[in-house]
Amino acid sequence: MTKPFSKILIANRGEIACRVIRSAHQMGIATVAVYSDADAGALHVALAGEAVHIGGAAAADSYLRADPIIAAALTTGAEAIHPGYGFLSENPEFVDAVTEAGLVFVGPSAQAIRAMGLKDAAKDLMTKAGVPVVPGYQGARQEVDFLAEEAGRIGYPVLIKARAGGGGKGMRKVERPGDFAEALASAQREGQAAFGDAHVLVEKFIAAPRHIEVQVFGDNHGNAVHLFERDCSLQRRHQKVIEEAPAPGMTEALRAAMTSAAVTAAKAINYSGAGTIEFIVDGSGPLRPDGFWFMEMNTRLQVEHPVTEAITGVDLVEWQLRVAAGAPLPLAQEDLQIRGHAFEARLYAEDPSNGFLPATGTLEHLSFSATARNDSGVRSGDAISPFYDPMIAKVITHAGSRAAALAALLAALRGTHVAGTATNAEFLTALAQNREFANGQGFDTGLIERNVEALIARPPLTELQIAVAAIAALGLDPDAPEFGFRLWGDANHDLRLIHDGELIDRQLIMTGNGAIRLTGGATGPLSLTDLRIDGPAITARSGATRQQVQAVAHVITRKADRLVSVLNDGVVRDLILPDARAGGAAVIDHSNVVTAPMTGTIISLSAKAGDAVEAGARLGVIEAMKMETALVAPRAGTITAITCAIGDAVEGGAVLISLAEEAAA
Ligand code: ADP
Ligand code: ADP
Ligand code: MG
Repeated sequence: MTKPFSKILIANRGEIACRVIRSAHQMGIATVAVYSDADAGALHVALAGEAVHIGGAAAADSYLRADPIIAAALTTGAEAIHPGYGFLSENPEFVDAVTEAGLVFVGPSAQAIRAMGLKDAAKDLMTKAGVPVVPGYQGARQEVDFLAEEAGRIGYPVLIKARAGGGGKGMRKVERPGDFAEALASAQREGQAAFGDAHVLVEKFIAAPRHIEVQVFGDNHGNAVHLFERDCSLQRRHQKVIEEAPAPGMTEALRAAMTSAAVTAAKAINYSGAGTIEFIVDGSGPLRPDGFWFMEMNTRLQVEHPVTEAITGVDLVEWQLRVAAGAPLPLAQEDLQIRGHAFEARLYAEDPSNGFLPATGTLEHLSFSATARNDSGVRSGDAISPFYDPMIAKVITHAGSRAAALAALLAALRGTHVAGTATNAEFLTALAQNREFANGQGFDTGLIERNVEALIARPPLTELQIAVAAIAALGLDPDAPEFGFRLWGDANHDLRLIHDGELIDRQLIMTGNGAIRLTGGATGPLSLTDLRIDGPAITARSGATRQQVQAVAHVITRKADRLVSVLNDGVVRDLILPDARAGGAAVIDHSNVVTAPMTGTIISLSAKAGDAVEAGARLGVIEAMKMETALVAPRAGTITAITCAIGDAVEGGAVLISLAEEAAA
């Protein structure tokens, strides 16, 4: 096949920029990346044939600026601009500017984006096209009394949505009339702040909701097809976490109804390119053909598009490029088929045990399972910066059946190792083992919230993790001739490590021939034999079961302390080998101090030394990535010291406020 363009520019960053570059290169198309100050060394810049600097680190100074991006395309001789998702991808003014510059926008027309850009207008349009929409009020009136009356008419619970919303922002579920006014005000504030538009609509909150969406594709010749559905019901705060295709429990009758509604929707706006029609589906019983309603259309390539690629064998980016150049759709509807089942899990730098706050930091170690498709925009050594979405990768698996694809996802997640920043990997691993989800029946968008405590629970540190941390932190070498005799002048080593601020006291005994014994733990001694160390990889045989254990330990030195991340089966545990001279200064008694929950800036302090405070009292606020988090007293007591000031940039874990020690009872 001929190539649609000679050169394209990708107006994005991260995994999606890398993803687009990959297909372009496979098609023989040259690529131009754009980058901000923060991304000069980023993977997408390294992969592209050329790269142009477009501005400062903040998205508003670079990836959201149409002018330097279009100028970069013109100077490098690119013929088309692929917008990825997010940033300028659904901005009709950008599409107009690209077209006026004589370039091709890889995506729908500005007109189609405008028609679907606001959720209220999109619902009206769909109603006219005969597509079922979620019942609610999506008119012009915005007075609180009027909307509250509409909510009563719709029937509680209702969902207030910012009409310009995206990424789950500007949405509030309201259970009872008494809460309506406050929820409205807060949705309006968030809509105004995030999208510059406070206008809302009010919808019936569908009980036991499943999020099922249809991938559509149109061309410039009036053709439109669908590429079946994706189920994105595993969500946290209205944001997708694990997606799959096809949807479990889907019936032929419902699929026919949903896909034909989706194609009708696409045709109603002469849609060209890749798009997604999102529906909410009644999941309170078996799926029914009359139990689905249009929510919104995303006029771009979707984050979770790989699951559709996996089950159809279509490269959606290749289709986007061909169609944008004017070619007809490569396949007709009857040529498209579902083969097997696929999952995608979104791996983020965020801390589930800390309210899922976004995390930043350097990826000291990053490795993926070779058994999965891993779409990523970062490598080992790269930083997760506070400026952009903290996604590390999407882990995608495909197999003949849902059970096999889910088992493959679990295995792939267990083989994914990230050190240096908190991630949701363990949470994803727990989710992939959830019974309701595995059964594929009766799960809905509330599953994560209902089970969140169990999903974020972290099993206690194992003796194996402690042993591996010690081996790595102490630089033990089983091949050294003296191993097992007198590595530290004694075969008996007193080990002091710190985990989550708690001291771990063990004895490490060299028993000869590459074997060690760890004693002093509550679960009894651990023996490892056949110890082999190859760079960060440590393998050994364990105890009576003679199981092969495998772990990666990554050591970085901060000040004089050595930080070890032990990675095993998708689980990461960070331990500290404190500088012996400091006498274990890194031990923190969390009942006596308030530490920074993440790296950020102190924006307020409402307490001072000498104050008596109640348990749970708000003592200040820290901000990171535009999110504010309260600093809260761990118990009642008297403040002895405040070791930070307003405006300070503090590291996650740093002690900020100390309380007087409690007198022993
Ligand atoms: P998807 O269904 O593809 O996950 P989302 O609505 O969650 O769609 O958005 C996809 C990505 O696009 C998000 O991860 C986010 O980075 C980005 N995004 C979505 N909406 C906006 C917006 N209004 N402004 C900036 N970025 C956005
Ligand atoms: P966004 O633009 O932020 O993606 P959506 O309208 O697509 O906003 O809604 C995001 C998520 O919120 C959906 O995936 C779904 O889980 C939930 N949701 C939206 N509308 C409803 C509804 N009427 N009833 C129940 N859940 C809903
Ligand atoms: Mg949506």
